[in-house]
Amino acid sequence: MLSTMQDVPLLVTRILRHGMTIHGKSQVTTWTGEAEPHRRSFAEIGNRATRLAGALRDELGVQQDERVATLMWNNAEHVEAYFAIPSMGAILHTLNLRLPPEQLVFIVNHAADRVVLVNGTLLPLLAPLLPHLPTIEHVVVSGIGDRSVLEGLNVRVHEYEELLAAGSDSFDWPELDERQAAAMCYTSGTTGEPKGVIFSHRSVYLHSMQVNMTESMGLTDRDTTLVVVPQFHVNAWGLPHATFMTGINMLMPDRFLQPAPLAEMIEREKPTHAAAVPTIWQGLLAEVTANPRDLTSMKHVTIGGSACPPALMEAYDKLGVRVCHAWGMTETSPLGTMAHPPAGLSAEEEWPYRITQGRFPAGVEARLIGPSGDLLPWDGESAGELEVRGNWIASSYYGGASGEPFRPEDKFSADGWLKTGDVGVISADGFLTLTDRAKDVIKSGGEWISSVDLENALMAHPEVAEAAVVAVPDEKWGERPLATVVLKEGASVNYTGLREFLSLTIAKWQLPERWTFIETVPKTSVGKFDKKVIRKQYADGALD
Ligand code: ADP
Repeated sequence: MLSTMQDVPLLVTRILRHGMTIHGKSQVTTWTGEAEPHRRSFAEIGNRATRLAGALRDELGVQQDERVATLMWNNAEHVEAYFAIPSMGAILHTLNLRLPPEQLVFIVNHAADRVVLVNGTLLPLLAPLLPHLPTIEHVVVSGIGDRSVLEGLNVRVHEYEELLAAGSDSFDWPELDERQAAAMCYTSGTTGEPKGVIFSHRSVYLHSMQVNMTESMGLTDRDTTLVVVPQFHVNAWGLPHATFMTGINMLMPDRFLQPAPLAEMIEREKPTHAAAVPTIWQGLLAEVTANPRDLTSMKHVTIGGSACPPALMEAYDKLGVRVCHAWGMTETSPLGTMAHPPAGLSAEEEWPYRITQGRFPAGVEARLIGPSGDLLPWDGESAGELEVRGNWIASSYYGGASGEPFRPEDKFSADGWLKTGDVGVISADGFLTLTDRAKDVIKSGGEWISSVDLENALMAHPEVAEAAVVAVPDEKWGERPLATVVLKEGASVNYTGLREFLSLTIAKWQLPERWTFIETVPKTSVGKFDKKVIRKQYADGALD
């Protein structure tokens, strides 16, 4: 028997309508690098999103299901695109502006984007690619930036503000199927060719509700969130959509992502929350250590995307900023876990929970699969590959404009679970601790060494700024760890000192024999340690 409940589709359009009316006064503040940031209310954003949808349909002929690309920083215009494009029935395709040019070309051609919205400051990046992007017909430019680089190229150029000015205040938003595509994002290719993940209206809606739950980010309209995580990195972890549900104000850094301007915007605009990958927080920490700033408006921050070193968490605790560790991936929209400790514990008792990747919310089911395919218990000890399923978890990858969705066997189990490629343990009360990515774990003489454990231990040394550990081939053991270390300025420790330091917490047989001191750890397009590049560059691993 079916229920007697109404069946109202879960649509991005509804989030938009709700945000622009119920929370019309909430604001998106975009950093401009000038004396005053730019401020726009949710009501204005909603009105402008309505005009944008009209212009895209009437002037540029955008049809339902068409992919519309954005090559933009985090700013108010990008939020407008976030709502206009899915709500009109098209698909928001955020482009990662840090990808190597050949990957960007691959992605745009794979998705057959016909329209791209671009910030003027990114035109020098887009223009040289356009001759290789035959499907792009329209380039819509917003903000400052030299348009002349587009001259002579085979595209129609539109001014964003002119399109909006000519648009209408109303749009007959279609009543879509909630399972229809709303947005798409390609994985950042850390582990191979980028693969397209398509989020549905339903998955975006449910994921946004989860982001807003107290057991996740738990923000309200009294909060301002500093959205450092790029809007092209898994929908900025769902924040732009989630904020329109509850009226959370957004502080957008635009292109000012360096530690000094971030510190300045925190001190001046006083966000209560922020979200970013660990490398951003490392950079900000170094900045405020050298030039102290008041960060205490940030009651809590969300750190995820790669393992957050416990030493980093401790450092922010000391600055009065509480870190909440989170795990996720493009295929999980991305919220998979968040590390809020259970109730009733002292600070000391909370610590072991806080340094895990966190607990699964109701919308995400998890299981651990052992090396021989057996289901492992949640005992905090049995390590296996994490598989997940749920309402905002991918079931396949986008097959391209004319292809069918595909489900590679190494990414999806026969019974439909997502194979995350992450290895770890789960405690009886559902807290996930990742030891490594399956691809990064060091297989030494039949035993596994966690590269993450070694990195965390190294980064706890007061003279170490950053450290990445990779597997290198070894005749006797198969693989051994190579530690690549960035020392802080003025540091004097050598590798023997670091080995000694490690031996305080790490088993002797796991200690690296190979060390190299480097200037910076190579990073991926979303700021994670790029182990592919590290392996390539430093595989010789000379003893320093
Ligand atoms: P890519 O796989 O291309 O880097 P994603 O951004 O989707 O793109 O990365 C997801 C992966 O990032 C996860 O599978 C996991 O390995 C890693 N990751 C994310 N958050 C964490 C975390 N808190 N701790 C450890 N690893 C993490």
